[in-house]
Amino acid sequence: MRPTQEPATGAALLAIVPHPDDEAFGLGGLWTRLAAAGERTVLVTLTRGRGGRSLGLCPPERLGDLREEELREAAEILGIARLELHDHHDYVPDGDRGVPRDPGLQAVPEERIVPDLVRIVDEERPAAVVTFAANGSNGHPDHVATHRLAHRALTRADHRPCGIYHYASPDPFDGPARDGFLTPERIRDGWRPPDRRIELTRDELAVKLQALACHRSQALSVLGFARRLTERLFEETFRAATPEGEPLDPDGPVRTVDRL
Ligand SMILES: [Zn+2]
Repeated sequence: MRPTQEPATGAALLAIVPHPDDEAFGLGGLWTRLAAAGERTVLVTLTRGRGGRSLGLCPPERLGDLREEELREAAEILGIARLELHDHHDYVPDGDRGVPRDPGLQAVPEERIVPDLVRIVDEERPAAVVTFAANGSNGHPDHVATHRLAHRALTRADHRPCGIYHYASPDPFDGPARDGFLTPERIRDGWRPPDRRIELTRDELAVKLQALACHRSQALSVLGFARRLTERLFEETFRAATPEGEPLDPDGPVRTVDRL
């Protein structure tokens, strides 16, 4: 018989994301805060992000290596205690990336990923888990798949975190349609406003910006984020979810908290 709630004696935070850089945008300050408090934090990245843009910094076929280096630097700066960098396929659109089109995580059999996630959840016994919402925040197919895979693992693991959270933007998505992504309408339909807000200190913001700056090959994404979602640089927002991935309290108001 599985207990409904176990004491949180393990890691303070486990994040499950698909790409190098997903850890820094919405979570850079919280990693820093927890590490400064001496807490253990764990990051699982499911792909090496070889489907992104290389900006000419390396040959396209070496982008995964470069992004792995960038992520290791960022994780060090953020004080992440354990980095699990997995090497599953990520989404590559048609066009100019210099590597063949690939459907990415959505086409990887669940049984090649979920058992590893279950093992990590049960080893680390995290108090809080963060992953993407069902709309993937921006409809990216790897973000959408990561939501599904993470929640499969959370419903299968023996350990039950005290809290499960999705990245939650304060405003609905207003970006353009993109090849292979959910449509803007579906992204907006799946949007839920945040119910947790963490305000970063000046020192935390400085560390977060240093971590973001490690992702040199993704400079255009970093700059686009800074331009469109400026307030999320110094404020990190989340929505509590059930292990199955539904909003825990769909109409709950936003509260400012010190940590998840
Ligand atoms: Zn991503």
